[in-house]
Amino acid sequence: MDFLFSREEEQLRADVQAFIREQLTDDVKAELRHAHDGGQASDKARSFLRAIVDRGWSGVSWPKEYGGQGMSRAAQFIVEEEFWRADAIYMGGGGTGAPSILASGTKEQMHYYIPRCISREITFCQGYSEPHCGTDLAGVRCRATRDGDKYVINGQKIYTTGAHASTHIFLLVRTDPDSQRQGGLSVLLVPMDAKGITVRPLWTIQSDPPAPTLASYAHPRTNEVFFDNVEVEASCRLGEEGDGWGVAQRGLNLDRIAAFRYLISVMRDEDVVRLLREDNEFSRERRDDDSIRDKIAELWIEGQVCRLMTLRSLSISQRNLPFTYEGAAEKVFAPEHGVKSTEAISQILGPRAQLLSDSAHTLAEGVYAHNLLGAFQSTVNHGSVQVMRDQVARKGFGMPRQKISR
Ligand SMILES: Cc1cc2nc3c(=O)[nH]c(=O)nc-3n(C[C@H](O)[C@H](O)[C@H](O)COP(=O)(O)OP(=O)(O)OC[C@H]3O[C@@H](n4cnc5c(N)ncnc54)[C@H](O)[C@@H]3O)c2cc1C
Repeated sequence: MDFLFSREEEQLRADVQAFIREQLTDDVKAELRHAHDGGQASDKARSFLRAIVDRGWSGVSWPKEYGGQGMSRAAQFIVEEEFWRADAIYMGGGGTGAPSILASGTKEQMHYYIPRCISREITFCQGYSEPHCGTDLAGVRCRATRDGDKYVINGQKIYTTGAHASTHIFLLVRTDPDSQRQGGLSVLLVPMDAKGITVRPLWTIQSDPPAPTLASYAHPRTNEVFFDNVEVEASCRLGEEGDGWGVAQRGLNLDRIAAFRYLISVMRDEDVVRLLREDNEFSRERRDDDSIRDKIAELWIEGQVCRLMTLRSLSISQRNLPFTYEGAAEKVFAPEHGVKSTEAISQILGPRAQLLSDSAHTLAEGVYAHNLLGAFQSTVNHGSVQVMRDQVARKGFGMPRQKISR
């Protein structure tokens, strides 16, 4: 077992760190955040992102044939880690769409989409959840009716993060109206500028009142997306008609291996340590408290476990071994760790840290309280922790599906 990165991978880390030191100025950070919150990206933000693409860092582990660098998943992890650490810049490359296209797409789809995902010309949001089904995705009702070489889509999606800023939606629809549950579903890659699509903002608990700029947890905004007789070419279907369940599952598993998932929680532990090291009475008093020191050590150890779980998944995927429950296990451990950390911070710092941004008495513009709310919502998004536990039991331990009495 070798926990070290190769020399080439360490060199990559040093190059990325040097680039960030030089190019990620406060101006660029502010402009990237503005764009993330739905504003227009400025020239500075765009040229920063362009420079990342030009260096090949947005498609590090993707096949050279489609414009990637063909490096290891470990190299991809390093790039993700450094950019997320620097300012929560997500380098997963194309979100759920791209890994799924690599897993289930035709050669034409790979040649069309993957290079554009790498250059960020195409970005995907994920259109799975509907008002009546999130966990129970097999209940999808949004339908696509075949009409010659087109599909006509009608229905609604909800909690679609990034729908307001993405060029495409990775859409799970029912193509067989007589089907039930997992059968008769398909995945369509739908351009967001297609006629008949309406996007409405849905602000999350973290942003009511608005989260301060420094809040770095989860998403301030998701969306509702409505489809009213939206016509798309049948060639935008990913995988076979009726195999949408399989296509969606493969994508979900693959995109759970990402550095940001553990980092988003572990960086909260680091917030506490940074604060307690400050040279003032407030910090001195708290860092001399045994129970606080114990808590911080406990959180740090757990944080390292989160990182190792991600590296383990990465190693499994790098060696093309079966990847079944590991992504679900990470999706339980890392967000719950985030909740523990953000709760601990608010207890260590006292009641003022629990006040939101609209209170004149809050600490650091309410960042700790908003992060706490963000941590809770991260236990729900991308599959709730309860359901992920069930997947670990079934896929990891081979236990039968739980019978739920209603
Ligand atoms: C911030 C945020 C961003 C999101 N972004 C996206 C996105 O981009 N795209 C997208 O498609 N969706 C997105 N979602 C939706 C998310 O995937 C769902 O909210 C999640 O899967 C839960 O579904 P639900 O909200 O319908 O809750 P429900 O499925 O109704 O679940 C309610 C509660 O019941 C529990 N529960 C349900 N079934 C079981 C079971 N069988 N065993 C044990 N417990 C169970 C759940 O754990 C949960 O606690 C996002 C959600 C949030 C909060």
